[in-house]
Amino acid sequence: MEKVQVSLRNEFSSDNYSGICPEAWAAMAAANEGYAASYGDDNWTSRACQCIRDLFETDCEVFFVFTGTAANSLALASLCHSYHSIICHETSHVETDECGASEFFSNGTKVLLVPGPDGKVDLESVEHTVKRRSDIHYPKPRALSVTQCTELGTVYSVDELREVGDLAKRLQLHVHMDGSRFANAVAALNVRPRELTWQAGVDVLCFGGAKNGLAVGEAVVFFNRELAKEFDYRCKQAGQLASKMRYLSAPWVGLLESGAWIRNAAHANRCARRLAERLQTVAGIKLMFPCQANSVFIEMSERMLSALRGKGWHFYTFIGSGGARFMCSWETTDADIDQLVLDIQELARQEASPGF
Ligand SMILES: *Cc1c(COP(=O)(O)O)cnc(C)c1O
Repeated sequence: MEKVQVSLRNEFSSDNYSGICPEAWAAMAAANEGYAASYGDDNWTSRACQCIRDLFETDCEVFFVFTGTAANSLALASLCHSYHSIICHETSHVETDECGASEFFSNGTKVLLVPGPDGKVDLESVEHTVKRRSDIHYPKPRALSVTQCTELGTVYSVDELREVGDLAKRLQLHVHMDGSRFANAVAALNVRPRELTWQAGVDVLCFGGAKNGLAVGEAVVFFNRELAKEFDYRCKQAGQLASKMRYLSAPWVGLLESGAWIRNAAHANRCARRLAERLQTVAGIKLMFPCQANSVFIEMSERMLSALRGKGWHFYTFIGSGGARFMCSWETTDADIDQLVLDIQELARQEASPGF
């Protein structure tokens, strides 16, 4: 029998399957003119840092690293000693997708997990985790890590973040924000970046670039400058100090000065909303979480999942809570969405008909 060739459709697998957006690409090309000082002592890097200070309307300390895992784990390590602990949500990337990097770079700081609906930390559980023990045998809680947008595609509101910040202050915890999709949260809430960060009590933000349209790179933004002390050494030791730093930093200038960062995020969010709205009308398809940013999680039978794979679609089911995750990016098109919806509709019709 002849094997049927299906072309692989992986545009919804993750927002890091997308390419480099034109604004970042152009800045990279512009940075490629002639010589520039290495290790961050160049004009592109100082300009990128200034862009980030302007964006957050405060005098923050900024560092550029290669990956989100490096950003999160080095930032968290700078908030803690090895005998401390970090509290985060049980589905957080720090816990489930970083291969223990936070524990490694902090020389053993323990990660303590809390539950909470829709990927957001439950504040009573945070308080209980801090207060249940005060003896010397328990790893002393020192940092609270939240993810904005969450791993389940939901968004903490400004008020929710203020509550997180207030509780952290009362419990003497530093606040770390994994913002690999921070731009999507700003676009979703239509607020100023400062309202979601330092004004709510966030000490350090890992501001995602890759999923927003860069080739590579995340910015570690310390609003609490004290905590940034010697962070440059931490980056260097971890192999995160780029010698040709301009190629990490210039694309940020391209993203931020052009406004592409927020346009890209808003576009991705709009695409996800459109996908969610259309899938909701398909019989047998259930959204697992409210679609608030650029992802759509759907619950489908095993049979439908494998039939959808059979049609060539690639997607993940291990991220978040076991459903099929579809991510939109700056590059997603209406045609992509229409094709996916069409295929799912067809499978749903087959599933409903006898003999499938
Ligand atoms: C993608 C992602 C990161 C960054 O991961 P790296 O692969 O290390 O760059 C961090 N946090 C969350 C929630 C993510 O989705």
